[in-house]
Amino acid sequence: SNERQSASLSSTCCYCGVGCGVVVTKEKNGTVAVEGDKTHPVNKGMLCSKGINLQYTVNDKSDRLLYPQMRYNKSMHLQRVSWDEALQRTAAVFKTFIQKFGPDSVAFYASGQCLTEEYYVINKLIKGFIGSNNLDTNSRLCMSSAVAGYKMALGEDSVPICYDDIELADCFYVTGANPAWCHPILWRRVEAHKAAHPEVKIIVVDPRVTDTCSVADLHLQLNPGTDVTLNHALGRILIENGDIDLYFIQHHAEGFEKYKELAFQKSVAEAAEICGVREEDLRLAAHYIGNPKGFISMWTMGLNQSSIGVNKNLSLLNLNLITGHIGKPGSGPFSLTGQPNAMGGREVGGLSNLLPAHRNLNDPIHRAEVQKFWGGTSISEKPGLTATEMFEALNDGRLKAIWILCTNPLTSLPNVRLAEEALKKAKFVVVQEISNTPETLAYADVILPAAAWAEKEGTMTNSERRISYLNKVLDPPGEALPDAEIICRFAQHMGFQGFSYSNAAAIYQEHAKLTAGTSLDITGLSYEVLKKQGSVQWPYRMGETGAGTARLFTDKQFYTPSAKAIIHAVPDEFRSEKPDADFPLILTTGRIRDHWHTMSKTGKVNKLKKHIGQAFVEIHPLDAEILGIKEEDIVQVSSKRGEVRVKAKLSVSIKQGVVFLPMHWGKILGSDLNRANNVTSDLIDPISKEPDFKYCAVKVEKY
Ligand code: SF4
Repeated sequence: SNERQSASLSSTCCYCGVGCGVVVTKEKNGTVAVEGDKTHPVNKGMLCSKGINLQYTVNDKSDRLLYPQMRYNKSMHLQRVSWDEALQRTAAVFKTFIQKFGPDSVAFYASGQCLTEEYYVINKLIKGFIGSNNLDTNSRLCMSSAVAGYKMALGEDSVPICYDDIELADCFYVTGANPAWCHPILWRRVEAHKAAHPEVKIIVVDPRVTDTCSVADLHLQLNPGTDVTLNHALGRILIENGDIDLYFIQHHAEGFEKYKELAFQKSVAEAAEICGVREEDLRLAAHYIGNPKGFISMWTMGLNQSSIGVNKNLSLLNLNLITGHIGKPGSGPFSLTGQPNAMGGREVGGLSNLLPAHRNLNDPIHRAEVQKFWGGTSISEKPGLTATEMFEALNDGRLKAIWILCTNPLTSLPNVRLAEEALKKAKFVVVQEISNTPETLAYADVILPAAAWAEKEGTMTNSERRISYLNKVLDPPGEALPDAEIICRFAQHMGFQGFSYSNAAAIYQEHAKLTAGTSLDITGLSYEVLKKQGSVQWPYRMGETGAGTARLFTDKQFYTPSAKAIIHAVPDEFRSEKPDADFPLILTTGRIRDHWHTMSKTGKVNKLKKHIGQAFVEIHPLDAEILGIKEEDIVQVSSKRGEVRVKAKLSVSIKQGVVFLPMHWGKILGSDLNRANNVTSDLIDPISKEPDFKYCAVKVEKY
């Protein structure tokens, strides 16, 4: 009906970085219906199981936080207070700490699910006015190794490719990713392309046989942690076979000779042995990569979440660079973003080592530019604490206050019991949340109720640099407020100028202005343009029309000082926790198809619990036999840090010597024994500071 039509507004799915367009319709009874947006270029109306059930998470308000709560000291109970009381006291506590212990005694821990405008104001507040760089987000646990890899190889954190390149490629190298489950709509495009063109080659690299492997021509079931060895071996074979682009290497890249030397240090046979794959399969993979017109490498957490995450990223980027497969149709490295707006966060500089619009924190000119623009205090040159470092600093008392928003670290951080101890010790904890389920709330001194998806407006950027506008469809329940508004009100209570925006559009305009002249210049973009044209890909400069920039580096000019891409001779190191006699197996963690992160949204949807309803450990039948474990037995998986107790799922899909735990489950009815991160290691990559979620030593016993 017309009535229904008039209440339909466009938005973007709030789960993964694919960024599917949705239409949200407000029904007469106040509930919403969510459908795929048939006009959206990303998904053309399709949605995966998570997206198609979004309406249930919006309509079920039973867990929503409705008003601010506060306690005056740790022995008191939380009580309902007004927004002014909550923010006034929080500001007073923050001011006291900053005065007594300096600006680095407070921190914000945010999320790749924040809208761009939200990131922008938090970043401005802490870096530009409080004078600390202590803003990090859960993107640190997700994309930070990819960010570092891009910066080192291409000069900036810039995804070169677009989804339309999929139909133009004839070889896909998918490594450390299970897009069939984790980026389903994007993967449907690859599957459809393969179905129409069976000659297209798909190589999957993963220690597990996943659904993604079902369309693969070749699955390299590598030993966990051997990605660099494998990529170097492929590089060696490509060089030996002459399947490299010498013109590109000579004119548009540096570092090839050193790389070649390194790649030739191990024979292909040696590398195959280390990786646990057959030499002929390595040669076949290199043959597939060496001959196409269009070659796309795709990756996500298997490479990023590692103590050698940056090295893994660089070793993969090298394959695109030596073959010249970048900056042309159907070719390029393509990091699949885990969260819906990790990209938007990176654009505004929302990590502890970044500044807005890809400016560098260690560059005094960049710091001065941003300070002048914001008109606040001088920006500290000292990088802020990263995700895991914040919790270490709470533990040892350096950090006094933490403000956590839009994320659930007590399920998602590695070695999570240590993080729990840290929050116990914290002097002051603010939790800004939509739901009453996250474990962090038990440690909060102040709880601030936030508006959820569809209850606020703003923008997000997906995996292909596509910025989209999300409409507000509903009013938030109770007294909940949009996150950006909460931060701006707090900034005003702190006495800071420059936070009285009339609306989200004004925040966006300010962010866009700060991108002028940078590689991600979006000065031509406004809410009006986005509403009129739909989503666009950055950069989008003043005066630009059309759909934006599909592909970067088409002129082969990279953002490095020499304008050449850098082929890094990445050392083949191992930094993870080695299995030993006590902890002989390797644990890797990951997602399942129908759940998202720590399940505060997908956990509310019965349909999504049907696929896999509880935590489990996947173990190879031969390992299980040695341990006397049968299907469905309750087993204890333990490491030096902690343990979980879950049912065993025997599967030949996992490599012998490796076990897998899903990462979604946290505390259930007071028990934390489903929580994979009791066990995981808090080793981090020295550059990206991303944790080693994909590798730690464990033992498994029948319980
Ligand atoms: Fe949402 Fe990602 Fe599924 Fe698209 S593929 S519907 S963005 S979860």
